[in-house]
Amino acid sequence: MAVKTWSTPVTAEETRLIPCTLCGGNDFVFHFSCSASLDKKSAAGFTYVRCKHCGLIQINPQPNPAAVTLRYGGTETSLAGHGGDYLAYEEANEAAFLKLQELGLRDAGFFNLEQRLFSKVHNPAVLDIGCATGALLAKLRDRGWAVQGVEISGPQAACCRRRGLEVSSLPLEANHFAPQQFDLILASHLIEHLNDPGSFVREIYRICKPGGSFLVTTPNIGGFQAKLFGADWRSAIFDHLYLFSIKTLRKLLENAGFTVERVKTWGGLAAGIGPAPLKRIADAAVKCLNAGDVMIMRAVRPGTSG
Ligand SMILES: [Zn+2]
Repeated sequence: MAVKTWSTPVTAEETRLIPCTLCGGNDFVFHFSCSASLDKKSAAGFTYVRCKHCGLIQINPQPNPAAVTLRYGGTETSLAGHGGDYLAYEEANEAAFLKLQELGLRDAGFFNLEQRLFSKVHNPAVLDIGCATGALLAKLRDRGWAVQGVEISGPQAACCRRRGLEVSSLPLEANHFAPQQFDLILASHLIEHLNDPGSFVREIYRICKPGGSFLVTTPNIGGFQAKLFGADWRSAIFDHLYLFSIKTLRKLLENAGFTVERVKTWGGLAAGIGPAPLKRIADAAVKCLNAGDVMIMRAVRPGTSG
């Protein structure tokens, strides 16, 4: 049985039914229900629905934004909410997560993009949204980028600041970044947690330079593991308000004005599910078929800057 990704525990929160963030539709059909606890003895769980119009899988009715913020929040001095739990999870996995992020960036063509940019721009500007403990930002700073981060979890943002990184704890939109401020914007394992990914992507488009890139990483519900495990898929967790496929994520980015230049997926079988040789074969197969468990999409804002 697949072990699910860590999530804040299922709790009763105020919820509301909202129009689909991708198409504005209001017709949803049942997709699957997940139990609240791993032993499945608890009756209360959460349910994903599918938009009848565009196919986007989502938890809807969804918890109010204030409740969602509280899941990750907690100020730097108080660990109200689950901010402290998330910090412990991110710190324990920091090296592993950084390695995965670097592999994802390589897949997305980041190093070529960086080379091209460095030949034209001194200290290009990168924004990492949901930058966690700042490991990737610190690396990018060392490579010559001008780095900024957004991390709404107070304890994690504090961890970034101890590294000397400039990181805001406000949600993206509340920062009022200047139009066309960034050459590159990153969001890894973040977009699926948001109440309104549609408005989030429109804000990213606004602050992205023409010719600049947005690299977004998220679980792929069109992948092999999602199909194999259904409601037991490791990414079908309470914290994931949306489960994107390549098709629905691409549409979300295109609706905001981006051009999708590259899509890569990875992960055929989670570690521990089968023998290592089988995992290697599965990993290679899903890579060819673009049916991996996680995807990275490189979207470009059309035009040239300056
Ligand atoms: Zn829809």
